[in-house]
Amino acid sequence: MGQVRPRRPRFSFTVKFAAVILVAGAMVAVLPLLLARAATTTQALQRASDKAGIVSNLVGVQRSSLQAYAGGVARQLSSVSAGTAPAALTAQLRQDESVNEAEDVLAVTTAAGETVAVQDGSSAGPDPHLLAALQSAVRTGAGTIADASGGAWMVASAPVQGPASAMVARPITAAFLEALRRSIATTADTAGLALVRDSQTAAVSPAISGDLAVAVAPVGGGFSLVVSTSVPALVQGWQPALLVVSVILGALLIIVAVVQSSLQQPLRRLDRAVAAMGRGDFDEPVPTGSDDELGRLGATFEEMRNRLRATMRATAARAAVATQMSASQPLETSLRNVCAELHANLDVDAVMIVVTGSEMSDPFTVVQGMPHADLDGLLSGDGPLGAGHRYTANGALLVDALPASDEARFGLREFCVAPLRVGKHVHGVLAVGCATRTLAETDVDLVSSTAEQVALGLERYRFLAVVQRQASIDDLTSLYNHRFLVDYLGQQVALSERLAAPLAILMLDIDHFKALNDTHGHQAGDTALAAFAQTLLSSVRRSDLAARYGGEEFSVVMANTTAADAHIVAEKIRAAVSAMRVTLPDGTELPLTVSVGGAAYPEDTDSAGELLALADAALYRAKRAGRNRTAMAGEARRAGARRARLDVVHTRGLDPAGSSTSAHERHRSPQ
Ligand code: GH3
Ligand code: MG
Ligand code: MG
Repeated sequence: MGQVRPRRPRFSFTVKFAAVILVAGAMVAVLPLLLARAATTTQALQRASDKAGIVSNLVGVQRSSLQAYAGGVARQLSSVSAGTAPAALTAQLRQDESVNEAEDVLAVTTAAGETVAVQDGSSAGPDPHLLAALQSAVRTGAGTIADASGGAWMVASAPVQGPASAMVARPITAAFLEALRRSIATTADTAGLALVRDSQTAAVSPAISGDLAVAVAPVGGGFSLVVSTSVPALVQGWQPALLVVSVILGALLIIVAVVQSSLQQPLRRLDRAVAAMGRGDFDEPVPTGSDDELGRLGATFEEMRNRLRATMRATAARAAVATQMSASQPLETSLRNVCAELHANLDVDAVMIVVTGSEMSDPFTVVQGMPHADLDGLLSGDGPLGAGHRYTANGALLVDALPASDEARFGLREFCVAPLRVGKHVHGVLAVGCATRTLAETDVDLVSSTAEQVALGLERYRFLAVVQRQASIDDLTSLYNHRFLVDYLGQQVALSERLAAPLAILMLDIDHFKALNDTHGHQAGDTALAAFAQTLLSSVRRSDLAARYGGEEFSVVMANTTAADAHIVAEKIRAAVSAMRVTLPDGTELPLTVSVGGAAYPEDTDSAGELLALADAALYRAKRAGRNRTAMAGEARRAGARRARLDVVHTRGLDPAGSSTSAHERHRSPQ
């Protein structure tokens, strides 16, 4: 299964969040500045407009006073006849020269446009070009004209008696503008004033610098007065800007710290846990601490993790149990491993399997997570194990261990128990116990399915035991059969040679059995064989193995037995057989005798594997010697040695290997 490798994010959440906060912070800081700047600009424009209005009014007042001045001059000249010579008019004008402002030009023009008297305060007389412009203004009624050098003149005229006009012209000078400027400027709100015409500046009062708001007041003749007032700067120098940036960065740091602790850390833990799940590791808990969306997300993942972990563990446990129950190993080993698997995969404190006695084994118990205890008696009690053993429905049972129950002594509080049942056959009980945890539905499912698997496994073991037993037992005598004898003897021979322990074997053959068959029938022969087997079985120890070798031949294998002890056993058997009577159905009682051959390792041979042949040869000798007797392999060897000492050579029949084969062939039944 391919693993999901977690992709490392190119930009962490913190970086993205910091960028957003930085942009938002900058906007929050700059926007008010922009708005304030717009407001101050508007206010400055308004102030400039107001000042332009004032300037316009002041110019109007000036113009009115000039008109009044022209009227006064006209009235004065009216006393002089219209026909008076220009010299008289000039003289008249000059009378007022003392009150005339130095730069004003006074003149009298006739209806024909001719200037007949002038007073301008200069000895050279007025500029002819200026005079022509003034005459034109009087004719057209213009209030403002430009002179040859582009300077501005305010003009006022009034009719003199007769077809003539008195005219007063006054230049708009820098001094005049400065007077106007002072009337509209304060120290807190400075102002500049300029007179312009056709983009040419005609006169300027001291200019102001910086950002300016400008308003225009037309004064006629193409001239305009331009009023300027300064727009106050909002930020002066670096310090305030630095302060704003510092505040933003400080706020940013606090926000990042808060985000880091309340958002990113839980997200990282969540990310780690989910990534672990992606790798198939379901043991890392998902954080669920906070009571918010992240907490709820974590809780959902945690529940999912727990479910998946339980499912995975159950699947692993089922597979492991199946493996254990089908492994070729002793039943107890399988069940101990099953307990260990359940203990590892279920979060429980103890696991127990109690197996009742059957064809396959004696009762036994395996436990995990608690000291070994004899639980057998608990199956009949009122506690959880007893309840599980008697449980007849499907599945498993959750049972509390009452303080008075025997199970409570193990410190376990709650049990989940299931009978190991196949059909009507209950092999025992499977139980898991918890000291503190409460068992869940998933535990019940796993215990139930495991109990089924174990029960099926036990049933298979039982079946195998039955079949094995049937395959190794002789039907007629209920002794072990020839096949089992050969296997058993092989094991014992190997064991004896490895441990250098003694091992003895007896071969027994009923005497004249053919005659019994022939006389009393085959059925009587079978009865005699069964009776003989019972006598044989009751004449040997439980640790000895009695088997039917074939026909009317039998064997006894005796571990840890010397030749002398084997001889004693052989004689004991022979005596018991001699003493017995076979009762036939018709009431006839038949006596039996048996011949016995014995051999022992290591007295008779260096190779335990030769024991069977040596015993067979000894049996042959017993038959030859007259039957109903015991012959031991060692006796033949000793007799051979004695003859050798007497220098009498009789080797024929003393070679155990050579004679045993022929003897064995002779004695073996064709069964
Ligand atoms: P010996 O004293 O030399 O052993 O003589 P014997 O007659 O016992 O030996 P023999 O081998 O000649 O005969 C054995 C007989 O045992 C032959 C066979 O019919 C009989 N026999 C073998 N198996 C059975 C059996 O299962 N039931 C019965 N009734 N007879 C059997
Ligand atoms: Mg016989
Ligand atoms: Mg025989």
